[in-house]
Amino acid sequence: MKLASPQPLERADVFQIPQERPEVLVAGAGPVGLMAALALAEQGVQVQIIDQEKRPAARSYALALHPQSLRLLDEVGLADELLERAHRIERLAFYEGMERRAELDFSALPAEFPFVAVLPQQILEGTLESALKRRGVPVLWNHRLAELHLGGGGAAALVERHGPAGAEDGFDVRPEFLVGADGHRSIVRHALQASYVEMAPAELFAVFELIADGPPEGEARVVFSGDKTGVLWPLGGRRYRWSLQVDEWEGFEEPRFKSRLYPEVGDEPFPYLVRDKLSELTLKLAPWFEADLGEIVWSMAVRFERRLAGRFGHGKAWLAGDAAHLTSPVGAQSMNVGIREAYDLARRLGFILREDYPPDLLESYDATHRHEWRQLLGARGKPEPGPSTDSWVRKHAARILPCVPGSGDDLILLLRQLGLALPVDHHHSD
Ligand SMILES: Cc1cc2nc3c(=O)[nH]c(=O)nc-3n(C[C@H](O)[C@H](O)[C@H](O)COP(=O)(O)OP(=O)(O)OC[C@H]3O[C@@H](n4cnc5c(N)ncnc54)[C@H](O)[C@@H]3O)c2cc1C
Repeated sequence: MKLASPQPLERADVFQIPQERPEVLVAGAGPVGLMAALALAEQGVQVQIIDQEKRPAARSYALALHPQSLRLLDEVGLADELLERAHRIERLAFYEGMERRAELDFSALPAEFPFVAVLPQQILEGTLESALKRRGVPVLWNHRLAELHLGGGGAAALVERHGPAGAEDGFDVRPEFLVGADGHRSIVRHALQASYVEMAPAELFAVFELIADGPPEGEARVVFSGDKTGVLWPLGGRRYRWSLQVDEWEGFEEPRFKSRLYPEVGDEPFPYLVRDKLSELTLKLAPWFEADLGEIVWSMAVRFERRLAGRFGHGKAWLAGDAAHLTSPVGAQSMNVGIREAYDLARRLGFILREDYPPDLLESYDATHRHEWRQLLGARGKPEPGPSTDSWVRKHAARILPCVPGSGDDLILLLRQLGLALPVDHHHSD
């Protein structure tokens, strides 16, 4: 496509075209890109954020905000507003069959927000987007990062503006820095020529929300059954979210969706799953869930990969969120650790752009977060039990790690409640 220079538009549209030289261009307006853009705007950095979709996600995928994420959202002034609409979870219990095997108590954390806040991802995204708009940074929807050239110490991006009939315009954007928060198929990661290594086999989950008379609504439950894992998140008001691991989709999808591949984020309808199969599965993995399945609000079959980028960036382009890593949904680590990366990356960029810090501040961004993800994805060994650790916890130490809704110091403290410690890192290098 030929590059077009931005044309002068009517006043109301002035901010709707990509700038030629923003200090930072954020590609992707999911939770991670929105957080990065907001934290940059808070530091007075001139930022532009684009997304190829035509509007924010009308979806409720990741829904649990870790205590750490709440603290960062408080830093950008949004915790109170979000908490008004969130449901608080104080405990997470581990079950195997009818047996309650272990428990995490978030209220024991020395955290400002000692609980997990459950709220739909689209409310989080909508709140972040509004906050950005108030700071004069509207998300440019329908704008796709189509090409990115890195080299010669710069970043050259081609941003396409899409209309109903496809790409309508193309803009040449040369930001000082580029943040790739463009999800699992990241163009930025491709431009960086970074590998996306499969760390463990993908896992399939039946994800569904229902209204029912279920267990106490202040407690989330992780279930282990054979080699399968599941999690129940109460959403408040008798609504619950189940994510249950399955071997294959065979028999789960409603016939009208049979020919569809796994759903992608976007305009695809949710493929409803067969109700009887969901009942059967729930009974098998969580026999204590006595409620019949009540009203199923939506259901979806999702394939979760477990991958890690070979690097989180270089020079002018840096990755955060699903663009850099994917994991199982149980502990809600993908989105939450992604939000923390976004905040950290924005701070570092702010230091470089506003306070003349050297650009190598970004190299340690790469090292720190890739190291953390190698740990979360189990590549640095499993959590280590102590002499008095319960035998069930000891046996399941590796499986417990991705199920814990926490990261950083909170993860250490939550694992300690179970008598586990993160493996000591004898060699920090990869
Ligand atoms: C059904 C379902 C359930 C889930 N449950 C959980 C859960 O329980 N816990 C959990 O932690 N995670 C869960 N996830 C994953 C979670 O949604 C992601 O981890 C989270 O959305 C990642 O945020 P992100 O901003 O990095 O990426 P995304 O949310 O994928 O956002 C990326 C954005 O980039 C845009 N984009 C992509 N390419 C371009 C381009 N070239 N130009 C411009 N824009 C572009 C996309 O349109 C998108 O808006 C679930 C996902 C699904 C589908």
